Amino acid sequence: MAKFNKLDQSDYYKLILRCVHCGFCLQSCPTYRVLGIEADSPRGRLYLTRAMVDKRIDIAKDVANHLYKCTMCANCEIACPSAVKYTDIMFITREIMAEANAVPLGAEQLVNTINNAKNIFMMDNTLRKDWVIYTGVEAPIKDKADMVYFVGCVTSYSGRIQGVAQAIASILNYVGEDWTLLKDEWCCGHPLKLEGATKEFKKVAEHNVKMIEETGATKVVSGCPGCCLALKKEYPEVLGRKLNFEVLHFSQILDEYIKKGKLKIPKFESKVTYHDPCELGRILGIINEPRRVIKSISDKFVEPIERGKEGFCCGGGGLLKVTDSQLSESIANKRLEMLIKTGAEVIISACPTCYQSLADATSRKNKALQVIDIAELIAQRLGLM
Ligand code: SF4
Ligand code: SF4
Repeated sequence: MAKFNKLDQSDYYKLILRCVHCGFCLQSCPTYRVLGIEADSPRGRLYLTRAMVDKRIDIAKDVANHLYKCTMCANCEIACPSAVKYTDIMFITREIMAEANAVPLGAEQLVNTINNAKNIFMMDNTLRKDWVIYTGVEAPIKDKADMVYFVGCVTSYSGRIQGVAQAIASILNYVGEDWTLLKDEWCCGHPLKLEGATKEFKKVAEHNVKMIEETGATKVVSGCPGCCLALKKEYPEVLGRKLNFEVLHFSQILDEYIKKGKLKIPKFESKVTYHDPCELGRILGIINEPRRVIKSISDKFVEPIERGKEGFCCGGGGLLKVTDSQLSESIANKRLEMLIKTGAEVIISACPTCYQSLADATSRKNKALQVIDIAELIAQRLGLM
């Protein structure tokens, strides 16, 4: 409660007051679209937040259950005529909830897991590079290199997704890039930021930045939009300084290689569609690059209605997989329906979590649809895997 005492006069409160309760955001919100409950909508969550600041309700777990039942996809911000910065507000709110120990159990456990294991799976972090052994790809660990490949937890440890790491490594080798893995990569910490655990997030940021800067690399590439968001935007914010390296998503690197003629990729005959990961498309604004890559290999590219800045979430963001896995699955099912409507045989994404969510939804629906990551698709077309 203490933290809220001064907040009614703060900029944070002014941000909350911008909401005029018009409801234009409701239909863009995946959790509201599935549940139809006001408290699980952007407007409802803002109302609950304001009620806590006004001390009309307590900071408590039952409120947190609504506040964390949000994928932090930011689609409501696109729809909002009052320019409410919903996710900025929620990051601060979640910090306050975390300080008051009022977060859902799943989120609390995830923070403990990352603090202890340095990854989201409570795995031994020294086994983080085992995907190199499993896939048989060459992946260097050097003292110095021009580029660092930051792999991320999901890609490092999840069996099906390790193919993305194999694809990225094999393409970097194919073009002759001077690249390296980090000697000791930790979780990027984005889940900590999402929970509100700012102190822990800062520790992780300090470690990963030190590891990267020791290599002297000027570029860091990742296939995970969550890692890219952490490294590019959230690390400079939490560390309060500019970093000495550029952060790129692998779809941007592919786009650059194709433009420079470094990759000659055989055409792909199947009808394909693309799912924009929220953190990549809406939040980081990387919308055209993956499309240029796909169009360079496909004459049968079809778009879903909800795309680009207005792309619909896969249900995998905002810690929803650990706070409400059923809701996360229902959102993935809904997104899959939208993608099926395009008539595509192959769904391409550019995020390990979207890949998992959509591939699982495809299995639940028993649909003969292929879900593939953009890096995997290109590596396969090049005959590298
Ligand atoms: S961030 Fe996404 S899930 Fe959260 S309230 Fe906004 S639209 Fe809904
Ligand atoms: S659209 Fe904006 S102003 Fe309207 S209810 Fe949603 S957040 Fe509030």
